[in-house]
Amino acid sequence: MAWALTPLTEEQREIQRVARDFAMHEIAPHSAKWDRDAYFDPSLVEKLGALGFLGMLLPEEYGGLGLDTLTYLVALEEIATVDASVAVMLSVHNSLPTQMILRWGTAEQKKRFLEPMARGEMLGAFALSEPEAGSDAASLRTQAVRDGGDWILNGTKAWVSSGTKGDVILAMARTDTPDDRRGARGISAFIITPELPGYSVGKKEDKMGLRASPTVQLHFSDMRVPGNRLLGQPGSGFIYAMQSLDNGRLGIAAQAIGIAEAALRYAASYAAERKQFGKPIKEFQAIQFKLADMAMRVASARALLHMSATAKDRGEHMTQFSAMTKLLASETAMAVTTQAIQIFGGYGYVKDYPVERLFRDAKVTEIYEGTSEIQRIVIARELYSH
Ligand SMILES: Cc1cc2nc3c(=O)[nH]c(=O)nc-3n(C[C@H](O)[C@H](O)[C@H](O)COP(=O)(O)OP(=O)(O)OC[C@H]3O[C@@H](n4cnc5c(N)ncnc54)[C@H](O)[C@@H]3O)c2cc1C
Repeated sequence: MAWALTPLTEEQREIQRVARDFAMHEIAPHSAKWDRDAYFDPSLVEKLGALGFLGMLLPEEYGGLGLDTLTYLVALEEIATVDASVAVMLSVHNSLPTQMILRWGTAEQKKRFLEPMARGEMLGAFALSEPEAGSDAASLRTQAVRDGGDWILNGTKAWVSSGTKGDVILAMARTDTPDDRRGARGISAFIITPELPGYSVGKKEDKMGLRASPTVQLHFSDMRVPGNRLLGQPGSGFIYAMQSLDNGRLGIAAQAIGIAEAALRYAASYAAERKQFGKPIKEFQAIQFKLADMAMRVASARALLHMSATAKDRGEHMTQFSAMTKLLASETAMAVTTQAIQIFGGYGYVKDYPVERLFRDAKVTEIYEGTSEIQRIVIARELYSH
């Protein structure tokens, strides 16, 4: 049973139950096949929108549920326990593009995009990375040039989650000029929609895990973007992206904890059924100790996540908390899924049981929204920043 740092309120338990029911009925029966076929089911967006789950953090005036961060993360963990691919779609949409438009968008941008996004009529994506700019995202090269009241964008964005279906893509591009390079302060954020001339979806990645989440390249070729699609101030796009990732990383931590929780449950029940040497393997102390360590790790990561969620809602500076939470949760997911496979023995290494998928899905949580190395850099830097 999932354990919370503070007892969940009645409303939080209700949202958790709705998420669990949805995951069990609408996702669980299909997850193995979606993973095998690398298939993204677009009807999920509609169904999750109808449930309100695509506007979990948006205020009610924009059609959202107006949930606090903890409630949102509790729901996200429930979905991730069943399918990490669906969870990342939810996490990106709720934590990044919707929040960026809410925080820095004009009244017109909010009106145009937030309600359809909350209803699931438009799915959000976030395009910061490029083929040559990953951890060093500020070195991105996609260039935006003024042309009258419009902008002309050229470049390639890489690794865009939900990119095949993305209806509203928050894309970062340079607005400084070759003669006046301004580093991170030369980057702006744009609200991109697929009907813009010059927009195209490129290569879809054939991934190890998270296979039901389409990850693609996006090409912008002389793409004409109306001036009213610039988000906030020119030159502030990288700062917006970094501040948003403080929130996004909590979503990825919830995803990682969901994966770890699922692996723990599968391993515990398998250990009770599987017999060797005439008794269930859970009777062996070696297996008990593994399960104990797994349970301890999941509980620790969840405790830090819940602490971070409440700190965020108190308005605290989140950079270090978010990095620590994402780092602990993703390393927990990797450690716990590895031990789950060990407990399953040979059966853990084949696709007949779900722990193999959980192991593959866990790995990416140590890579995206900042690798574990980058999280350690952020944590250490914050130690000296105040
Ligand atoms: C499935 C998936 C989905 C993704 N979704 C999105 C998305 O929706 N939007 C988006 O913008 N991006 C997305 N990404 C991109 C992701 O954020 C990057 O992959 C990540 O930031 C790492 O960049 P990179 O892959 O270029 O690795 P690199 O930056 O090339 O890193 C390679 C290795 O070097 C290490 N390294 C790099 N710099 C340092 C340093 N200074 N000190 C120590 N070690 C260092 C890294 O930690 C890593 O181990 C996604 C990636 C994946 C795999």
